[in-house]
Amino acid sequence: MRSSVKMFCLVGAFFLGFVPFVLADEFDDTRKIVSEVVKKLEPSLIEFRHDLHMFPELSNRESRTSQKIAEKLLKIGLDEVKTGIASTGIVAVLKGGKPGPTVAFRADMDALPIQETRDMPYKSQNPGVMHACGHDVHTTIGIGVAETLAQIKDQIPGTVKFIFQPAEEGAPDGEAGGAGEMIKQGALDNPRPDAIFGLHVESEGTAGKISLLSGPAMASEDGLKIVIIGKSAHGAKPHNGIDAIVVAANVINALQMIRSRRTDPREAFVLTLGTIHGGARANIIAERVEMVGTIRNLNENIRREAPDLIRQTVEGVCTGLGATCTVEIDPGYPVTYNNPELVDATMPALKRIFGTQGMFRILPHTGAEDFSKYQQIIPGLFFFIGIANPEKKITSAIHTPDFDVDESCIAVNTRAMSLLLIDYLRNHKN
Ligand SMILES: [Zn+2]
Ligand SMILES: [Zn+2]
Repeated sequence: MRSSVKMFCLVGAFFLGFVPFVLADEFDDTRKIVSEVVKKLEPSLIEFRHDLHMFPELSNRESRTSQKIAEKLLKIGLDEVKTGIASTGIVAVLKGGKPGPTVAFRADMDALPIQETRDMPYKSQNPGVMHACGHDVHTTIGIGVAETLAQIKDQIPGTVKFIFQPAEEGAPDGEAGGAGEMIKQGALDNPRPDAIFGLHVESEGTAGKISLLSGPAMASEDGLKIVIIGKSAHGAKPHNGIDAIVVAANVINALQMIRSRRTDPREAFVLTLGTIHGGARANIIAERVEMVGTIRNLNENIRREAPDLIRQTVEGVCTGLGATCTVEIDPGYPVTYNNPELVDATMPALKRIFGTQGMFRILPHTGAEDFSKYQQIIPGLFFFIGIANPEKKITSAIHTPDFDVDESCIAVNTRAMSLLLIDYLRNHKN
């Protein structure tokens, strides 16, 4: 991979007494064409987003959404549109008019079990379900990019794959789903993309701006379940039993010491126990306590160490206090890791599109994203798109009932993503 943008060519015609000017290059020409196409598409894209927003669907239940996307992709005239992948997923292919590599764009489609409270004409018509994570926006941008690139197909040197993925928020209990299942069912095969791009709405940034981190961008997420078994006794005679509640209290405190004393303090390590259940009544020593939680890391090495550290800590405390225990760690999403080489190759184009003023700074998120599963197989780049607009009172964070976006972000990022994909195809060498 090499730097992806030809340098501005400054022609200082000083010897003729002219003010130096900037010669347009291939990137500028494409930018002009893409901008014109996106400008025309913007009203229909906003309409498309409103429709998705009004009829949000939960993870692995995105049938209407999937149907709308497939209809649109067929109308746009993509070369292949495969539906029904990992339940409601779609993989579509656009073959450019010139030979070249393959690049993928992924958008997620699912909504959340939240009752929308903001009042706008396109508010959710499905009670208790809402696009509170902006996946309607990601999908709309995916459609926008597909439509834009299809209109300038002859100029595209390579293949673009569009992955519309269900269940990013997690499949319902007992079901497979999300990025892992899409990969299992061939989303990255025939053709295998050389790189994958994705984006996510971010209320910390104003609409029109973006943020890109090199290396870790979002945390891993693994589940944790601890069961402590003690011995029941009369509440007045604790010495006759093993109090699972007191043991649990010590386990909770000891677990928090992993972050402060066992792992590199410069590395993130979130360990949250979200529930604790145990005991039967006031005067009985509890025999059993069950706790479930979540572990978040920004470094796959620390993530690999975490299970042993947790087991050692829980088992050590339980053994010391006479109890027994089980510790289950359920691997979830890996760290969303932006391949630094890909970031370096993309940055010049991003800077030309957004300028330094158009990029906001952000720290890596401790939230997780299953885009990371694609990045484990091929280099991937995932950036955050600003969506806030305080003047329009659009400032709420994702996963809250009054979340919304300033819809100017749709055209801005359709344009940006279209250009980035073309730039990648033009400049990537195997
Ligand atoms: Zn979410
Ligand atoms: Zn999301």
